[in-house]
Amino acid sequence: MSEIKKADIAIVGSGPAGHVAAIQMAKLGLSCVLIGPAHSGTDGRTTALLGSSVRYLERLGLWDQVKEQGQALRIMRLFDDTGRLVRAPMTEFDSAEIGLEAFGYNIGNNKLVAALHQGIGELDDLIQDQQFAVSVKLEDDHASIAMEDGSIWQVKLAIAADGRKSLVKEAADIEMRKWSYPQAALVLNLHHKDQSHNNSSTEFHTPCGPFTLVPYDDANHSSLVCVVTPQEAQELKAMDKDTLAWELEKRAHHLYGKFEIVSDPQIFPLAGMVAKQFYGQRAALIAESAHVFPPIGAQGLNLSLRDIEELAVQIEQALEAGQTDIGHDDILKAYNKARRPDIWSRTAGVHMLNMSLLSSLPVLQGLRTAGLTVAKNFAPVRKLLMKAGLDSPSRFSSIGNYTNE
Ligand SMILES: Cc1cc2nc3c(=O)[nH]c(=O)nc-3n(C[C@H](O)[C@H](O)[C@H](O)COP(=O)(O)OP(=O)(O)OC[C@H]3O[C@@H](n4cnc5c(N)ncnc54)[C@H](O)[C@@H]3O)c2cc1C
Repeated sequence: MSEIKKADIAIVGSGPAGHVAAIQMAKLGLSCVLIGPAHSGTDGRTTALLGSSVRYLERLGLWDQVKEQGQALRIMRLFDDTGRLVRAPMTEFDSAEIGLEAFGYNIGNNKLVAALHQGIGELDDLIQDQQFAVSVKLEDDHASIAMEDGSIWQVKLAIAADGRKSLVKEAADIEMRKWSYPQAALVLNLHHKDQSHNNSSTEFHTPCGPFTLVPYDDANHSSLVCVVTPQEAQELKAMDKDTLAWELEKRAHHLYGKFEIVSDPQIFPLAGMVAKQFYGQRAALIAESAHVFPPIGAQGLNLSLRDIEELAVQIEQALEAGQTDIGHDDILKAYNKARRPDIWSRTAGVHMLNMSLLSSLPVLQGLRTAGLTVAKNFAPVRKLLMKAGLDSPSRFSSIGNYTNE
């Protein structure tokens, strides 16, 4: 006979989104289990957390420990390196122009998860089950999640934070729109001892995709996301570190002087995916179980945090209205409706930006060039773009009492 354990909510998936979701739901006073193996610490990516994400993590009482691990992002520079006949001018966005000390902070994913993990220790209502879920059943009045050791979690709501190949999403039988790009991101960290990044990120737009340097760790380290064809990514990864450093230095137009590679390169194939709806019976989809797009404009996890915040708003409102069933369809439908515009517009926006680089269509290239030219020359447009990149037109100000006192 399997051991049956009960909680209000199971958060399946213990990546950054799963951690935040678990802490958020526990802070609503719900009993939660965070399901998933301990973080492997092998994710070479970094994540720029922007605008509303910073404020949200502040409200959750998580920001101080996360910020300690990050580098402030004050200036974003875009260079047109397409070599095409019609090119955009260099465009610079300065956070001071919209009254901000920084657009956000860039943090290594491993350090981010470790910092979020600290937040779990303080919460009595949150327990961790550090194994994989092996099957999920979504029924009328509960969800059952079977674990590797044979035990079963019975909950009112399963939150899918288990990434692109989500088991929860599969159980909910939610249709996905999927597409692929002829691109892969080579990711690594660089030391540039001769020159500081001065808290600037620099994005070169090449005909294959962006080549982006983002402040990382200290004044003389940057993380790199270099989007190229999958074959070129493999060729770059196969180079010895000195040859690769020189190759990347050239691609960066020697902006920061000499490069030294300080991490093992990793490759992430680019893909797009969006769920047709963000809920199923007793299940809510968040983060990469609901949406995936190319790493352009640092939008992925920022969008995921807004999923979590919205789900919490809907649950909290339902609780206040006397609803005790936090997995009820009405709550999930309201969540779905509220998230649709933000998720679809971000997915489409990032897709269009990426395609404007890849496409040989003069119309698309012209639109990107015109957009950047206008942004460079007209401060109001520039400010509007900066604000749109940082936040959704969200109604959030604060929900619940999120201090750790
Ligand atoms: C190159 C690159 C750069 C990026 N840069 C940025 C950026 O600057 N800003 C930004 O906002 N976003 C960025 N992103 C996106 C961001 O990295 C992702 O959105 C984020 O890491 C995904 O986190 P997640 O928690 O949704 O998923 P994951 O990190 O994939 O976590 C899923 C978790 O679920 C667990 N899991 C899977 N199956 C099961 C199961 N059956 N049972 C239990 N657990 C399970 C896995 O072990 C894993 O821990 C970038 C992405 C890439 C590729």
